[in-house]
Amino acid sequence: MNSPIFRLGLTGGIGCGKSTVAKILQDQGATLIDADEISRALTAPTGLALPMISKVFGKSFLDPSMGLNRVKMRDFVFNDLEAKKKLESIIHPLIANEIAFLTRRAESESKLFIVYDIPLLLESPKWRTMVDFVLVIDCLIETQIARVTTRSLLSRQEVEKIVNAQATHTERREIADAAIYNEGLTLSELFNSVTNLINKFRIS
Ligand code: ATP
Repeated sequence: MNSPIFRLGLTGGIGCGKSTVAKILQDQGATLIDADEISRALTAPTGLALPMISKVFGKSFLDPSMGLNRVKMRDFVFNDLEAKKKLESIIHPLIANEIAFLTRRAESESKLFIVYDIPLLLESPKWRTMVDFVLVIDCLIETQIARVTTRSLLSRQEVEKIVNAQATHTERREIADAAIYNEGLTLSELFNSVTNLINKFRIS
């Protein structure tokens, strides 16, 4: 690590609490770089990824006022590995560019602490090389299902399908430097766990 900036990568399965932890860290002064947010911007009506998505997958995946029809695309690529790879080959380089841009901007603003909320941190080792420390947010699968079905219109079966397609809890813990077990914690207890960790590693 040559840079004085501390780069923390967050990982965790759907609904484990990454965004909640990221928000806590942001409130403590960290610069948050959120890959999902970048991906949404890239696929919004004027997003940079849309022309290529339209060319490769056809206009039927686009909604003029909404940009990419994410639900339709998610369903389409879920059972088609080739299509999934094609979509990723369009979006991932654009996300990587934006992450690099936001990182340079944080560096130029002399920020000390960057949090990367990158769901594919584990699946994409290349992105892991950008961070100094990996923190996994973990919880029981039942809790993931309960949280996500409460938060969205997804059914239990849909959430189970997503969980099964993601890296396992063991795989995530293997690449992590530390874990927060976000199970049975109130939001204020989660806040305390996060701030204890920051203090322990003196990362703020
Ligand atoms: P995704 O992978 O879908 O982005 P995530 O890992 O970012 O999910 P969050 O969005 O942070 O997960 O959390 C999922 C839901 O669970 C949110 O509605 C959040 O408010 C809630 N939640 C997370 N942790 C707790 C907790 N300790 N107590 C109560 N609710 C929680």
